[in-house]
Amino acid sequence: MEQKIPYKIYLNEDEIPTRWYNVRSDMKNKPAPLLNPGTGKALTLEELSPIFCEELCRQELDNDTPYFDIPKEILDFYKMYRPSPLVRAYFLEKALGTPAKIYYKFEGNNTSGSHKLNSAIAQAYYAKKQGLKGVTTETGAGQWGTALSMACSYFGLDCRVFMVKCSYEQKPFRREVMRTYGANVTPSPSTTTEVGRKLLAEFPDTSGSLGCAISEAVEAAVTHEGYRYVLGSVLNQVLLHQTVIGLETQAALRKYDIKPDIIIGCAGGGSNLGGLVSPFVGEMLRGEADYRIIAVEPASCPSFTRGKFAYDFCDTGMICPLAKMYTLGSQFIPSANHAGGLRFHGMSTILSQLYADGYMEARAVEQTSVFEAAELFARVEGTLPAPESSHAIRVAIDEALKCKETGEEKTIVFGLTGTGYFDLVAYEKFNNGTMTDVIPTDEQIAASLAKLPQVPQAE
Ligand SMILES: *Cc1c(COP(=O)(O)O)cnc(C)c1O
Repeated sequence: MEQKIPYKIYLNEDEIPTRWYNVRSDMKNKPAPLLNPGTGKALTLEELSPIFCEELCRQELDNDTPYFDIPKEILDFYKMYRPSPLVRAYFLEKALGTPAKIYYKFEGNNTSGSHKLNSAIAQAYYAKKQGLKGVTTETGAGQWGTALSMACSYFGLDCRVFMVKCSYEQKPFRREVMRTYGANVTPSPSTTTEVGRKLLAEFPDTSGSLGCAISEAVEAAVTHEGYRYVLGSVLNQVLLHQTVIGLETQAALRKYDIKPDIIIGCAGGGSNLGGLVSPFVGEMLRGEADYRIIAVEPASCPSFTRGKFAYDFCDTGMICPLAKMYTLGSQFIPSANHAGGLRFHGMSTILSQLYADGYMEARAVEQTSVFEAAELFARVEGTLPAPESSHAIRVAIDEALKCKETGEEKTIVFGLTGTGYFDLVAYEKFNNGTMTDVIPTDEQIAASLAKLPQVPQAE
């Protein structure tokens, strides 16, 4: 007899992973190193240290150490909102009439509303331990800024957030959460930095961009004694911290002897997907198991499915290091019509290498179909999902419907990265029937890729 699986599989507090897993240690083809855009050479610890905290630089550059102990201070914080539940989506399965078994790992159960807190608390801890006064960052819609302000307030660090001006004005709720946690939130472009002043002189009416906010945050960090810059996605260190998601998922599945067939996650910069799948990909890399891993991206920002695997700038301002990744070009800006997040032009170098080596598949989905999936999920499972997370729901549903046709009882696991409470403007558009799909043309993507930097493609 099959053991009855509970609706929620919770781990005990003492089963929260005590180490992060570094998937790079098991990769035969290591992700390509970050390059200094000035010299074209691999970035060193010395070059990175003025920008990022030292311990985080070490994690960034370490391709070999398989596990990193999670410091006790971080584990204590994790205990406030972890372990997160792995939920068996019985009601969704029933609504779809599928023989597939669907599970989702829900990371939205904390005030910041997403998985980003898992890395924010780690980054704030290492900044504090280094004796820094504070950190700077940028935020678009505000998820990362919110998570970071919570983490900084916990460790008594100053937190300076450059928030893209149009979001600052149109999304006052995230801003107020950040201020409640003591963060200093500046609409970007601002007059507090050289980059900001220059841009404002040229375009006084600009509503800002993520690229500009990044440039301002980096400048604020390097020009203020005792400050460093922190980033909420894309980097190797962020993927490392997010493996707490995948390790918990693995432990919960093992409790009931469940072996997943398909693991699905949404992909913006790749941190939640990388965190969820790393331990499973590790099993694949070591030849112990086989899974289908699917990355889901918006059709309006399709870096995996239509981008190029090449060195590119991580920011629009072209001041950050070069990373070898699937990219649409650093000047690519998804249509303003695109409602959810996941609008980064590139992708984590780790996931890019895994994808190039055939360990992952990728799918691009259109936003109206994403919100249809979100609506069904909210109605039957009760949780209002973030638009980003709903990309994974879309493909989980599609795979479950395929099982319905073939009669296969596959086990599907997907990452539900956040709650949709802060994205009600997007839901409003969907409910009003005014949401449309804008997909970049081949010409637009080719034009953007034509501007890729010329770098010696170092081996
Ligand atoms: C930021 C965010 C994402 C995308 O970022 P990744 O680094 O790709 O994980 C996905 N879901 C939610 C809820 C987010 O806030």
